[in-house]
Amino acid sequence: MRTLLIFLALLVAVYAQRGFEGDQVLRITPRDEEQARLVMSLEDQEHLQLDIWRSPMKSDLIIDIHVPDSSLQSFKVFLEHNGIQYSVMIEDLQVLIDDEKAELEQMTMMERTASSFSYGKYHTLDEVYSWMDSLAIEYPELVEKQQIGTSFEGRPLYVLKFSTGGTGRPAIWIDGGIHAREWVSPASAIWMAKKICTDYGQEPFITSLLRKMDIYMEIVMNPDGYVYTHTKNRMWRKTRSTAPGRKCVGVDANRNFDAGFGGPGTSNNPCMETYHGPHPNSEPEVAAIVNFVRSHRNIKSFITIHSYSQLLMFPFGYKCVHPANYQELEALAKSAVSSLTSLYGTRYKVGSICDAIYQASGGSIDWTYNEGIKYSFAFELRDTGRYGFMLPSRQILPTAEETWLAMRTIMENSRDN
Ligand SMILES: [Zn+2]
Repeated sequence: MRTLLIFLALLVAVYAQRGFEGDQVLRITPRDEEQARLVMSLEDQEHLQLDIWRSPMKSDLIIDIHVPDSSLQSFKVFLEHNGIQYSVMIEDLQVLIDDEKAELEQMTMMERTASSFSYGKYHTLDEVYSWMDSLAIEYPELVEKQQIGTSFEGRPLYVLKFSTGGTGRPAIWIDGGIHAREWVSPASAIWMAKKICTDYGQEPFITSLLRKMDIYMEIVMNPDGYVYTHTKNRMWRKTRSTAPGRKCVGVDANRNFDAGFGGPGTSNNPCMETYHGPHPNSEPEVAAIVNFVRSHRNIKSFITIHSYSQLLMFPFGYKCVHPANYQELEALAKSAVSSLTSLYGTRYKVGSICDAIYQASGGSIDWTYNEGIKYSFAFELRDTGRYGFMLPSRQILPTAEETWLAMRTIMENSRDN
């Protein structure tokens, strides 16, 4: 009887979750743009279910693709037939997902609560939200949890406000988790939130900053997607919105802002990962940020955290034109990255989105820049593809620590300008 129950439980688990057994992540190194275009054109072949993890960039044409077991053989034949070189980065995606899941399940109750919260582990949305409450209780003079909206599926959208008082103070915005599967982004933001609390009153930089400015952190910008990566499909990227007559679920929230909406680097096909949505701000998660930024009116720096590729980028993405303060942004980004690298030697590239990667429209930092936030930045955290979105939890703390040094450089600049 017991065996039967276990068997049934496993069966339910298998059916409830999208499995990735035998799926591989391939790194493709096209010889030229023609080969890169050929590979990228297969994304439209919906039956292949190719999931692009990394698109060709200006600096190199490398493509990382998650290929389902079912199309693996024909895809490899295609590559070999066309003389396109590749290597296998991840042998079996499900093995990494299982390891990660086992670690999440092994976490003790102690590690889930804020008093002994494990900053070096990944957490569910419930754990993150209750940790926020505990942080606000532990540091009542400094931290406040505020709701800025509601997600498509009805979850509250929370920001942590770090403030030492005063009204109308200039502020810094930091968000994580806009793309659901980029788990190291919220995980790093959580560590940074705690760092702000423990450093305040002890460490001159954050103490002086918080005497002049507030910090707002939206740790999980896309909670519906985040929950979905925990419960159904670890590789989910978009929001979870639906609309009558729309064939597929979700919108790429970072293509949904009103900056070159619908332009290059987006798709009007709802089944594509870069679907821009029916109109700008159609996603309640995006609209919440837009309303917040517009009503606050004094945000000096807007920083959004993605993974992976190890990049620090600034506007523009929707057009390949440099912003007015390009030289200042480039110098600041270089200085931020050199301080990041000083800790563990992790190497980053800097540049405008268009120069560093490719043209991409409807992104958050282009919109905030056009709204007058002259220090708008996007991070792509670790790694450069060994694990991609499946970055092992042992890398959370080093990632957060090094990123904090870059963040600090940007925040110092905002404090002093
Ligand atoms: Zn992203």
